[in-house]
Amino acid sequence: MLTEVVPLLIGLAMLGGLAMLASSMGGREDHRTRSRWDTRFDYEARELRRTDATGVLTCRKCGSSGSERAGVCPRCRAML
Ligand SMILES: [Zn+2]
Repeated sequence: MLTEVVPLLIGLAMLGGLAMLASSMGGREDHRTRSRWDTRFDYEARELRRTDATGVLTCRKCGSSGSERAGVCPRCRAML
């Protein structure tokens, strides 16, 4: 009787340990992915708010401001 139960218990314990390990690893991975998405979403939301609030983009070549709708710099005609 004992020789039958002990290997079963060890097997169950190993299975439980593996399941806990897998779930804890999966949880960490999931959290990391979620936080990365949150960061990306925050960044994009902030970008959207910034352009929506002003409607003006700064030229990366000459630094002057052009309207977001025009899409080009009014001074040097570079793409904004
Ligand atoms: Zn420019």
